[in-house]
Amino acid sequence: MSENLSWVGGDARRARKEGMAGIARRQRERLADMVTFARAESPYYRELYRDLPDRVTDPALLPVTSKKTLMEHFDDWATDREITFGRVREFVDDPSRIGARFLGKYLVATTSGTSGRRGLFVQDRRYQHIASALTGHVLAGWLGAGGLLRVAARGGKFAQLVATGGHYVGYASYAQVTRESRWQAKIVRAFSVHTPMPELVAQLNRYNPAIIVGYAGVIQLLAGEQEAGRLHIKPVLIEAAGETMTSADTDRMATAFGARVRTMYSCTECTYLSHSCEHGWYHVNSDWAVLEPVDADYQPTPPGELSHTVLISNLANRVQPFLRYDLGDRVLLRPDPCPCGNPLPAVQVQGRAGDMVTFPTERGERVSIAPLAFGTLIDRTPGVELFQVEQTAPTTLRVRMLLADDADPEHVWREVHRELDQLLADNELDHITVQRADEPPQQAAGGKYRTVIPLG
Ligand SMILES: [Zn+2]
Repeated sequence: MSENLSWVGGDARRARKEGMAGIARRQRERLADMVTFARAESPYYRELYRDLPDRVTDPALLPVTSKKTLMEHFDDWATDREITFGRVREFVDDPSRIGARFLGKYLVATTSGTSGRRGLFVQDRRYQHIASALTGHVLAGWLGAGGLLRVAARGGKFAQLVATGGHYVGYASYAQVTRESRWQAKIVRAFSVHTPMPELVAQLNRYNPAIIVGYAGVIQLLAGEQEAGRLHIKPVLIEAAGETMTSADTDRMATAFGARVRTMYSCTECTYLSHSCEHGWYHVNSDWAVLEPVDADYQPTPPGELSHTVLISNLANRVQPFLRYDLGDRVLLRPDPCPCGNPLPAVQVQGRAGDMVTFPTERGERVSIAPLAFGTLIDRTPGVELFQVEQTAPTTLRVRMLLADDADPEHVWREVHRELDQLLADNELDHITVQRADEPPQQAAGGKYRTVIPLG
C-alpha cells in the first residue's frame, strides 16, 4: 500500500510562510528520519554509519558519499533488497522500457552528470510525489496569477526539450507521465535535443507551447532562431536547466521570446534541489534537501565565499538514499536575505557552464551543437562507463572512453561512431572527422571530468 502524501503540498506552503526556523526544523527531523531508515534498510549505510549516535540531526556528522562510491556499492546501497545493479542495468539497456515502472514501482534514471561517469538512479513514488509538489509550487510562483491564466488560455501546452531515446530523468519522467496519465499526455510533448535545428524550429512553430522546459544550451540556440524570425512562438514561461547561464543569457532569452525566464540548479540525484528567482539566485528547497558548500577537506565554506564543492542530501527518496553526496559543483551561499523575499537559502553556481561546440560548415557558415547532444548520445550506449569528447581541431572530434569490464570495445565503438556520425550528418557536418582515442578520459584540475571540451 502506498503512503498517503496529500499533506506535502500544504506543508511546503506553510514551511515557506514560517520562514527559515520552520524550514530548518523540518530539515532536521527529515534528515534524522532518513538516516534512521537508511541504517535500518541499507547494508551499505548500516556499515558506514555504525559508529554514529542513534539519532543524527546534524548532517556534518555523516561521512561523505559520491557517485563513484555509491555505484561501487550499488547492491548494498538500495533499501529495497530486490534492487541489484544487474537488474537495473538490464532495464536501462532496453529502450522499450523507458518510463516503465521498474519492479512495478520505481522510476529509473541514468546520468553522466558533470563527472562523465554513468549513474543508475532509482526513484520511489514518495520522492516523485514530493518533487512534483515542490516544482508545482515553484511553477505557480514563477507564473503568478496572470501568468497562470495566460498559460491556461493557451491550453496549458508544455514543450519539454530533452534527450529522447535514453533513460534520462527528463525523458523518463515524461515517458512515465504519458504512459500513466491520459490528460497530462495531451498537454505535454517532448522534443528531442538531437533534432536538427530547422526541423526543431518547424515542430515548435506548429506546437506553439505556453511553457518551454529544457536544456539551456538548446534554448539559447532557439533564442537565436527567434531573433532571426525563423522561430515565432510566444511562450509565457521558459525554464532552462542543465547548464548554468549568465544573466545576459537569460535577458537575451526573455527579450527574444517576450517571456519570463527562470532556471533551475538541480541534478538527477535531487531534481527539485533549487529554482531561480527574479534576482538570479537559486533558492534551495531546504525543507526536503540539505545543501552544504564545503572546502577540499569537507569543512563548511562561509557564506559569501565560493566553495570547493557542494554536498547534498535528498530527504525524500528512500529507495536509494543520497546523503552528504559530493556533487562536484562550486557554489556561493548568499550571506544576506535575498531581495526577492524568499526565505529559502540562496546560492549561485559556478562550473556548469555549457560548453557549446561550434563547427565550420562546408559553405563557411558556423553550426553550434549543445554539449548535452553529444553527451547523451554516448551515455545511452550500453557498455560506456566514462567518456569525453574533445574538439581537437575545427573539424576534428576525439572520443575517449572507459568501458564496462564486460563490454566489447569494437562493438561499443561502432555504436558510438554511428550515433555521432548521425548527429553530425543531421546538422550537415558530414565533413567532421571522429577519432577514437587510445587514452582514457582526461581529468581537469580538481579531479572533475569535462564530458565535452570545445576547441580552446
Ligand atoms: Zn531570491
